[in-house]
Amino acid sequence: MDQSLFISLLNPAVSGMLSLAFLVIWAAKREHRHVLLLGLCYLCVGAGFVLQGFSLGMPFEAAKFLSNLLFFCAVFLLARAVIARQALRVPVFRLAACGIAGMAVFSWFLFLQPDFVARIFAVNYGLGAMCVVIALSLRKARKLAFVDRLLIWLAALRALDFFIRPVVVALFENGHSEQMPYITSAYWLTTSLSVILFSVLIALTLLTTVAFDAMQELRIQSRTDALSGLLNRRGFEEETAPFFDQTKRKPLPLGLVLADLDHFKLVNDRHGHAVGDAVITAFASLLRQAGAGKAIIGRTGGEEFAVFMPQCDLGASRLFAEGLRAALSTGALEGVTPDLGLVTCSFGVAARAGDESLAALFKRADDALMQAKRAGRDRVRVTYIRSEGDSPIDVREWRAGT
Ligand code: GH3
Ligand code: MG
Ligand code: MG
Repeated sequence: MDQSLFISLLNPAVSGMLSLAFLVIWAAKREHRHVLLLGLCYLCVGAGFVLQGFSLGMPFEAAKFLSNLLFFCAVFLLARAVIARQALRVPVFRLAACGIAGMAVFSWFLFLQPDFVARIFAVNYGLGAMCVVIALSLRKARKLAFVDRLLIWLAALRALDFFIRPVVVALFENGHSEQMPYITSAYWLTTSLSVILFSVLIALTLLTTVAFDAMQELRIQSRTDALSGLLNRRGFEEETAPFFDQTKRKPLPLGLVLADLDHFKLVNDRHGHAVGDAVITAFASLLRQAGAGKAIIGRTGGEEFAVFMPQCDLGASRLFAEGLRAALSTGALEGVTPDLGLVTCSFGVAARAGDESLAALFKRADDALMQAKRAGRDRVRVTYIRSEGDSPIDVREWRAGT
């Protein structure tokens, strides 16, 4: 096979395969719209290169115009995909301005005043500017993993390639004639090779981000309770573990409130499981509101919840629990279902003593909760460890709450 024909076929083939890879991944997870955009992006690249290599019976100008339009569309789709993936605002206006300006200048030098080198400048500088917009937008993301940084670097390098290549072409291709078959020009060769290189590098990075996102999602799912959206037991333990790190010199006051809905089995029996679920969800929202983003909150069992409060001593933790109990007694969960009646909850409160582990603190708070249940439910019980003289301790007191 002729070398230039091989190069002409290679680009559409590589882009087509990459497009297929993204489309197959998207088909399996359709909510990831950015993966669909990536598939369409590579489809545009492939189609653009088909038209560059083989005009498919079209007039020269029409084939060139269409293929370059497809390249601009590809970069626009890429920008939308990678910027939206980071939950950032897509700078549509800036991207469109670069694209329209590039295509306008390109069209001028294609239809009105044919000039090969000027066209190369128009297309490359338009696409390069779009890559700069991508790199600058991605830098605004709050959390950047290694692959995200790599993507920013690749966008910047791609922009540099777009900016430098036309200059090199202008220097070396001086006097390039329109009659010379375009396909054999050095420009075409370097363009094809650099597109293949960047296509594959960027696609590999993008595929890595897709795999990375999937792993993150699995990790979040494995730590989250599906019904309430709170952390599950495992997530709760993982999130709170750093606070029990023995290497921290000055231990913080750490409070723990355990909550268990009262007679929850009756709620299910009388109103049905769906209403029980609604109560769990509503109570979780109440906890989230009360925790105000500062507490670590988990659903540690069916109708059991744990609220871990960094920087909160026993008094503050107790007040928190009392506040929740008071809120429930004024009907905070009313409206979950019309004939539900008052939902009550029992609370056990403890604060970390010395270098106590989470398990030990949890056990004490759970004991306090049991006391609250035994004392008749709908109340708060607090436990603390008292020092006797110099020697610690092992004296526990149950203090009546409300
Ligand atoms: P107590 O006041 O002693 O805590 O009594 P209780 O009925 O709340 O406690 P018990 O442990 O006897 O029963 C808990 C009930 O919670 C039993 C179970 O059916 C229900 N439950 C657990 N998980 C869920 C859930 O996800 N949805 C619903 N609707 N009910 C649940
Ligand atoms: Mg219960
Ligand atoms: Mg229970």
